[in-house]
Amino acid sequence: MKDVSFVIEDATAAVIRAPLATPFRIATGQHDELANVFIRLRTSEGVCGYGEAAVATHITGETVDATLANLQTVTAGLRGRMVDSPEGLCRESSPSFEGNHAGLAALEMAVLDISSRVQGIPFYRLFGPAAGNVPLLTFATDITIVIGSLDEARAAARTFSDRGFTSFKIKIGRDEDLDMKRILAVREIAPDSQLILDANMGFSADRMLAFLEQLDRFGARPVLLEQPVPKYDWDGLAAITAACAGSGTLVCADESVGSLADARRAIDSNAVSAINVKFMKSGILEGAEIARLASFQGIQLMLGAMMESALSITASAHFAAGLGCFGFMDLDTTFFIKGEMSRSPYLDDSGRFDLRHAGHGIGVEPHFG
Ligand SMILES: [Mg+2]
Repeated sequence: MKDVSFVIEDATAAVIRAPLATPFRIATGQHDELANVFIRLRTSEGVCGYGEAAVATHITGETVDATLANLQTVTAGLRGRMVDSPEGLCRESSPSFEGNHAGLAALEMAVLDISSRVQGIPFYRLFGPAAGNVPLLTFATDITIVIGSLDEARAAARTFSDRGFTSFKIKIGRDEDLDMKRILAVREIAPDSQLILDANMGFSADRMLAFLEQLDRFGARPVLLEQPVPKYDWDGLAAITAACAGSGTLVCADESVGSLADARRAIDSNAVSAINVKFMKSGILEGAEIARLASFQGIQLMLGAMMESALSITASAHFAAGLGCFGFMDLDTTFFIKGEMSRSPYLDDSGRFDLRHAGHGIGVEPHFG
């Protein structure tokens, strides 16, 4: 990443809230509103960079209060700071965010947003393609069918299918019988769409394999199955991956892989055939390292998100575009948010991102009250 110099004159951290159109329900809990911590860094030249920490307490154990306090402390220490290596500043700040990777993601996002604005380039140009890949400037996200009733699954599938979505990620893991009915309903409503399942750790390996067999009988095998078992059940994950080899179903770690070390372990132990990378799990720079490692080792990649607003989702889209190695895009959370925070300049109503004419930086400027 190219070095550029600037002086951080002002730094602010604040919680910004937004209502959700639908509660975002998964096997382990739910979001009823967006309440994320945002930061704004301003250089002495008046260039602003923005970052977002999406706190998912029911997934990572991080809290909004601790993330805000952490970001307030770190940003206060940056006022008046002369920066000559944005990447160096991110790496140097990383130990302050132990146990608070959403905070780290916010800091990196803001520093790198400034770096790309100062250079006069889109954010994606900071990330060179992973080996053997080329930048990918247009792509579509999947859409999540959250945990809920059969009628809710049907209604969501119809709405998003009508809007042009062609990849459905169904959350499962709370009620197997209902899960099966919801999957088959989505299949019926959008028969030509790509089917992805995310169990959020809700199954045992045996139950998952039996469930997949049943899906096979209905001709509803998913192209990708995310995190079937609890995060530390590496043996269970490896058993499902082995059983799915050659079946057309990729087995993807999400909760199990939060760092480069986790990714190495997952790959070296043949526990997965795909990895879900998220800024909020590993930060941005380490996320890029995970992606490069996985891509080099022939492991498929999904780029995912927590309950992130248009700022972080757009930054993630840039990241995927630059690296070019993500075969599965799961950047749909703005479709669950109401109002200004849901608007990305490069995302349309059918879930298609187009960064071909992207301006400088990330391209989203949240309003600080
Ligand atoms: Mg997941």
